[in-house]
Amino acid sequence: MSAEAKKSGGIPGVALTLAGKLEKLGLRSDNDLILHLPLRYEDETRITAVCDALPGVAAQFEVEVVSSEIAFRPRRQLVCRAQDASGELILRFLNFYPSQQKALQPYTRLRVFGEVRGGFFGTEMIHPRFHAIRDDELLPEALTPVYPTTAGVGQGTLRKLIAAALTRADLADTLPEPLRTQLKLADFGDSVRTLHHPPPVNDIESIETRTEPAWRRICFDELLAQQLSLRHAHAARQARGAPVFHGTGALTKRLLASLPFRLTKAQQRVGKEIAADLAQPHPMQRLLQGDVGSGKTVVAALAMLQAAENGYQAALMAPTEILAEQHYRKLAGWLVPLGIGVAWMASSLKKKDKAAMVQLITSGDATIVVGTHALIEDDVAFHRLGLAIVDEQHRFGVRQRLALKQKAVSPHQLTMSATPIPRTLAMSYYADLDVSAIDELPPGRTPILTKLVSAARRDEVTSRVRDACRGGRQVYWVCPLIEESETLQLKTAEETFEHLTRDLPELRIGLVHGRLKSDEKARVMAAFVAGEVQVLVATTVIEVGVDVPNASLMVIEHAERFGLAQLHQLRGRVGRGAHESACILLFAQPLSENARQRLKIIFENSDGFEIARQDLALRGPGEFIGARQSGMPLLRYADLDDTTLVEQARNTAETMLRDQPDLAERHLRRWMAGREHFLKA
Ligand code: ADP
Ligand code: MG
Repeated sequence: MSAEAKKSGGIPGVALTLAGKLEKLGLRSDNDLILHLPLRYEDETRITAVCDALPGVAAQFEVEVVSSEIAFRPRRQLVCRAQDASGELILRFLNFYPSQQKALQPYTRLRVFGEVRGGFFGTEMIHPRFHAIRDDELLPEALTPVYPTTAGVGQGTLRKLIAAALTRADLADTLPEPLRTQLKLADFGDSVRTLHHPPPVNDIESIETRTEPAWRRICFDELLAQQLSLRHAHAARQARGAPVFHGTGALTKRLLASLPFRLTKAQQRVGKEIAADLAQPHPMQRLLQGDVGSGKTVVAALAMLQAAENGYQAALMAPTEILAEQHYRKLAGWLVPLGIGVAWMASSLKKKDKAAMVQLITSGDATIVVGTHALIEDDVAFHRLGLAIVDEQHRFGVRQRLALKQKAVSPHQLTMSATPIPRTLAMSYYADLDVSAIDELPPGRTPILTKLVSAARRDEVTSRVRDACRGGRQVYWVCPLIEESETLQLKTAEETFEHLTRDLPELRIGLVHGRLKSDEKARVMAAFVAGEVQVLVATTVIEVGVDVPNASLMVIEHAERFGLAQLHQLRGRVGRGAHESACILLFAQPLSENARQRLKIIFENSDGFEIARQDLALRGPGEFIGARQSGMPLLRYADLDDTTLVEQARNTAETMLRDQPDLAERHLRRWMAGREHFLKA
């Protein structure tokens, strides 16, 4: 292997800059290239006569240039007239290079690919792909693949790399032959070759809609790899030991007796599930899902006490200081009266205070530790950590989640999330994970009134803000999400802040956004919590955390740009006190069909699980999970809805691990190379 190839991590002949871009696509080896399958195809295997062209249908034509000239109607453009025996075709380029102009000399013979449209002057194509034909040039024999790609990696480059990888890589089947025949699955090598270079078919559709046997094989393989890795992870966990926490009730009973409320049925149920896990000699790995306000903290507290009853420490890590501090206050309020030491860890602590906290944690004087990622810093060593809890786990990177776990040999693990993921999906995506859900809110919550208001009626919204503040309430004003540009997002937030300050001069208005230093951010937030700031203009940094019961109105600008989970989370920031609360979703016309549906879902539903279910139906599992879990091994091709195939993959995983573990290993390497560590998080 050349030095260059080694640097690029295994794809021979790829320069470093290109390797970096390929890395973004997850392409590090020949194997990855082979499993990078086309999104769709173009049929360049045949020529259509110009007179047979159908508007809106991509086709290839072979024409001769008659003339080409630069026209200025209505703006500068290159117009090329060309023809075949059946008719004239106009090629129009609104942006073009001199080289393109040069290539379109009269009498040049071209192959042109694209969609035609019926223009005023006849049949025309805008920006078609074209090339001059060499005399001996044959038509391709396979369909032309179109691959998912990223900026700076052209289709041509990918096609060449993948074609080369196909000749080099090991395409041997990882399925035992009898099994493959029994399941009526196509051969692996044949399948990938077909999918990259399919022979011309009458309807390109069977291959594009992925009903082709070759696709079935790929989907099966992907599901099989997932099943195998799940089993691996599960077996590994069962082989590890963990401290057994008998639920003696010595502390949990006292906490329950001291609470001003009774647990809901759902809290009791998940509490039991967790308690049972903690009494096992293997590490718990459980996801606790529950809508905003469903009362996850008290469930976490009970689990922590079960550890404490057995002489172990428990830690709770939250993604922001605001959120961590809320947990700390609540837990200290409950547990200190029971005589339990609670420590607080955050990067904002003064050096001296931090050292004191580290001392409490290391000596074991603090049984419960709450904090931000400051908890996972090197100098924090636990005396005897038995339970690691991570709140809003999707906010942390894989590495951070692993780091907390590594503070002990093999602690029990609980992750908590307010953005529900349907159970089956969660279990398929997060390695080896058990799921509990609190699917009920404590009684007595005031429902939040949700309103959809066109941005044209912004003035009315401003006066609602004024009214709410006159009544002594507080308001969140959430600025539009601008995914493409953080700078633009900041600018919009500042503009909104200026407008509101101008229109509502009598109110105290604060601005908080992601670019602020964390102490500045904390200052503004603290002022809002204290009621000194009445209107908080914010980018989505408030999504997680803040609990200000006096805030009763939330305005979300350009609500159509937010995802459903985000809108639901944001909306959950109000309705936390005794006051009637409202959430105004400002939207800009015209709405896309998809945006309209999303707003309808959030308008009609208040249950986070139901919203997640509908979100999933709208977007499909890949995108639904993708937005939440970057870096997770997604199913790229298979669909969990294909229950027959999922079932077959599950059974095959079992037999393979038992009878042919070496093949199973090879299969996993082909599909998961370098990604297994994500499964452990
Ligand atoms: P989340 O699930 O969003 O983390 P919290 O744990 O912060 O929710 O709980 C929200 C609020 O509800 C807290 O003030 C908490 O003390 C309170 N709470 C929790 N459980 C109950 C219950 N069973 N009955 C009444 N209030 C409860
Ligand atoms: Mg919470």
